Amino acid sequence: MSDVRTIGVLTSGGDAPGMNAAIRAVTRAGIYHGFKVIGIRKGYEGLLHGDMEELTLRSVGDIIQRGGTILQTARSAEFSTEEGVKRGLSMAQVFGIDALVVIGGDGSFRGARDLARLGMKVIGIPGTIDNDIACTDYTIGYDTAMNTVLDAIDKIRDTAYSHERCSVMEVMGRHAGWIAINCGIAGGAEAVIIPEQHFDIDKDIILPIIEGRNRGKKNYLVIVAEGIGGAAEIARYIEEKTDIITRETILGHIQRGGSPTMTDRVMASRMGVYAVELLKAGKYNRIVASQGGKMVDYDIEEALSMEKTIDEELIKIGKILAL
Ligand code: ATP
Repeated sequence: MSDVRTIGVLTSGGDAPGMNAAIRAVTRAGIYHGFKVIGIRKGYEGLLHGDMEELTLRSVGDIIQRGGTILQTARSAEFSTEEGVKRGLSMAQVFGIDALVVIGGDGSFRGARDLARLGMKVIGIPGTIDNDIACTDYTIGYDTAMNTVLDAIDKIRDTAYSHERCSVMEVMGRHAGWIAINCGIAGGAEAVIIPEQHFDIDKDIILPIIEGRNRGKKNYLVIVAEGIGGAAEIARYIEEKTDIITRETILGHIQRGGSPTMTDRVMASRMGVYAVELLKAGKYNRIVASQGGKMVDYDIEEALSMEKTIDEELIKIGKILAL
């Protein structure tokens, strides 16, 4: 059984579609199980400044379909310091918060871990479009972001085909190529360049484009993950080497916005309810995760020490189907 009475919830780091569905799930499941729920605005920044208020069943109404996060989010430099974490803990105590649910990425979980080391009970819910959290095979926002990218790829393909051009698209993923590799398969890219894999521009980009042209291709798509960057330079290099007119598109923050897909809404709802059930059962300092479609949880220290590797099968499929 749990000695938790009041749960704080915040979103931190980059926003992701579905975060609202997670806030709603934590709030409604929390109230259902008899907890008081306090929403903290602007991530750890709001925790430091006491920017928070009680959430009710109704205050989370009409948000499941909205992108972004109603609680807003931030990157707090002050909270990244030892002093900042202590201040955060003491402000949580002022508001009577016994447990904190943090919806965010790895960085946000490191902040939660630091709070846990000082005695706060924490639960992490993976919310980031990059899908770069090792302990879970899914993070909130990932599906919506990929669908946004795919929509852009389809549009760019129409114009690339009409002009027989090559497009280089930079998609999000600072350290992870999950969006890039999946969208490469779904969008039919000739080449996908991701941070997890060493690449050789001539062998991995130029050669497939020239071979594709020799087989009769009419347009070419190269996807570059944000962590590699340099889309403009890659485009110039392709044009120089192949004489194919090449344009770069950097999708940027458009990938973060938009109404969450059904997958994101359902996953966020499941993760939010699971987080509250952990607290109800007296379990804390855990990260909620999805493994093979099932909800599971990991100790926060263990979760942060795990390393995520890219799925080799996806890389293989992308290469075979680019023929
Ligand atoms: P995303 O991957 O979507 O950007 P994230 O959670 O990894 O999300 P970060 O900017 O890395 O985003 O982290 C969010 C916030 O968490 C930081 O601004 C900081 O306040 C806090 N944080 C990050 N690392 C630590 C740390 N080691 N100790 C304390 N707080 C931290």
